[in-house]
Amino acid sequence: MRLIIFGAPGSGKGTYASRLKSKLGIVAIATGAIFRELAKEETSLAETVKSFLELGQLVPDDIVIDVLKGRLMKKVLEGFILDGYPRTLVQAKALDALASIDAVIHLVVPDWIIIERLSNRRICSKCGEVYNIRFLKPRRPETCDKCGEKLLQRADDTPKVIRERIKIYEKQTQPLLQYYEERIPIVRCKCDSIDMPPEAVVANILERLEALDLT
Ligand code: AMP
Repeated sequence: MRLIIFGAPGSGKGTYASRLKSKLGIVAIATGAIFRELAKEETSLAETVKSFLELGQLVPDDIVIDVLKGRLMKKVLEGFILDGYPRTLVQAKALDALASIDAVIHLVVPDWIIIERLSNRRICSKCGEVYNIRFLKPRRPETCDKCGEKLLQRADDTPKVIRERIKIYEKQTQPLLQYYEERIPIVRCKCDSIDMPPEAVVANILERLEALDLT
């Protein structure tokens, strides 16, 4: 199965993708996480990527597409869920040339939940698992349930950068929905309760994929 999980920053893409991948036996490819790792290296590419991440701006399409091609090549046959890709029309068209997508999962989340989620989000410094210090707490404070590493706040989860990322999503990424609506089934998932357990959302997505004969 080849899926895209689509939604604003803070809509829960990473949280649901990590659960869907285990349920469906596919891999999750999260371009944001790939870039955060890449930015730690000491190369000129790392410097470039870092400068975009810090400002909450999109990494240029040519770099993103190169990175995706490298990751996707090995995974196309096994099935995957893309989290954070595509974010522009150029990226969507590049993906079309690499793989056919079975469905887009669109997370529809009100702004107040997005702000609440992003400002309280913590991620594992090692495995990237996502937590929320109010609504999706780790069992031990500041410690990842999965691998025991320390949890950190993302450098781009600051009010100023959050505002920029939401603005960019609305302007450059959201219009992609129309592109997909004309081509691929969209599983629309409305999440308007902040304390809804991720498992309930994932169960709903799985049911809907099943109704499309995709599971
Ligand atoms: P995310 O973890 O998905 O919120 O992504 C974090 C940051 O990585 C974004 O704000 C962008 O700077 C960069 N990024 C991730 N995916 C893409 C993409 N598909 N195109 C451009 N930039 C991206």
